[in-house]
Amino acid sequence: MVDFSQQRAALVKQLITEGIVKSDKVKNALMRVPREEFIPSNYREWAYVDSPLPIGHGQTISAPHMVALMTELLDPEPGDIVLEVGTGSGYQAAVLAEIVAKNAPLKKGRVYTIERIPELAEFARENLRRTKYIDYVIVVVGDGTKGYLDAAPYDKIIVTAAAPSIPQPLIEQLKPGGRIVIPVGDMYYQRLLVVSKRIDGSLNIHKDTWCVFVPLIGEYGWRVQY
Ligand code: SAH
Repeated sequence: MVDFSQQRAALVKQLITEGIVKSDKVKNALMRVPREEFIPSNYREWAYVDSPLPIGHGQTISAPHMVALMTELLDPEPGDIVLEVGTGSGYQAAVLAEIVAKNAPLKKGRVYTIERIPELAEFARENLRRTKYIDYVIVVVGDGTKGYLDAAPYDKIIVTAAAPSIPQPLIEQLKPGGRIVIPVGDMYYQRLLVVSKRIDGSLNIHKDTWCVFVPLIGEYGWRVQY
């Protein structure tokens, strides 16, 4: 019998030592969300190896260090309304829900997460139901490059698939003072961008690390699947 909680604590400690996990809120969220519950059973024993893993349909759950880094860069606050584009397993959404909603029930934070593959959206819903994050996460099926107008505007937007450029609808659906974290580049390598929208609507773009994500496919993303 594998002791997942021990492995989880060891991985979080490693991410702190590596300087990737910096804040208490990200540390606590990673300690609380069981990553093994978001992974297909045949890969579950690898849940706390710091690597992406297959979740079916040619897609992957991001590596823990990438989830940690993106969450630190996004800087979610209790009460934030967050949009995630690329639900996948639902793990990143659960980590965000832990910070914006579960730990601050009076502040009414929410995570809206949008996935283009209906079967993955259902996989994520099941995972979120089992782990009880479903109370704070709304899983939507659709093309997230167009954002999700029904719940806009957002305090924070995180895109977990590789975009050729920043989709204009996401900029429009971001509150002034809000922030987008998104990998932008070609199909093979991308740069993680932190896009801040100033109060006057202008953008400040900080280029963070290089990274590798599956492609963002849609009207304002890649038009074809290779
Ligand atoms: N955040 C996920 C990992 C995402 S993998 C997790 O925690 O597990 C990227 C996901 O983005 C894939 O599931 C892929 O199907 C989805 N995707 C790609 N293009 C999309 C689009 N235009 N809208 C919504 N989802 C998209």
